[in-house]
Amino acid sequence: MRILALTLDLDDTLWPVMPALERADRELDAYLREHYPSVAHAWPIPAMRELRAKVALERPDLAHDFTAQRHITLQQAFAACGIDDAPLDTLWGIYFTARNSVELYPDSLPALERITTHWPVASLTNGNADLEQIGIRVHFAHHICARDTGSLKPDRRIFHLAAEQLGIAPGNILHVGDDPELDVVGARNAGLRTAWINRTGRHWPKALGAAPDLDLRDMTALADWLDAHPPA
Ligand SMILES: [Mg+2]
Repeated sequence: MRILALTLDLDDTLWPVMPALERADRELDAYLREHYPSVAHAWPIPAMRELRAKVALERPDLAHDFTAQRHITLQQAFAACGIDDAPLDTLWGIYFTARNSVELYPDSLPALERITTHWPVASLTNGNADLEQIGIRVHFAHHICARDTGSLKPDRRIFHLAAEQLGIAPGNILHVGDDPELDVVGARNAGLRTAWINRTGRHWPKALGAAPDLDLRDMTALADWLDAHPPA
């Protein structure tokens, strides 16, 4: 296969996302306990998570927009406590800052630096990570996120939009990600080539059909493979 560009998943591909999401929940909770104790008491972290899941179920029209889902969650939590003017901007700021305080896997940045010397890379995410805040925006030619495009992985439309922005045919793009269904199956159905970042050495789930083109342990393995398959 001839790879001319890459699309790259973010959460759980370049950094583990759970620690950041958990920290975001804790920091929001700490703020509520200090400034809105009644809300904090009514909505401890597990209850707030359940409310968030309920909002996601009730609003399939916002499936692509985790940010809007979280705003509605906070609004409802405050309204249930009789507060109609929740300080949404402040709350979102606290959440967003913590959510973007991610710790990259040690292989991510060196590999990204090697790869982007030779290949244009577009980030492609369903989440709301902010490359500017994380400090790695400079490595990406484009940033495609579900919130902006209105479709989310594994929908082929988000992959085709990325291909359009890169100006490269889908068959010459390698999509890289950790999620078998969202990343590998989604990208394959959209006509892209696929690299599965399989950090824990799992077996490919056969129920999902053909194995990915590449099954790689980490981003270093990806950079090594690409070095051996230059675009020219
Ligand atoms: Mg991921």
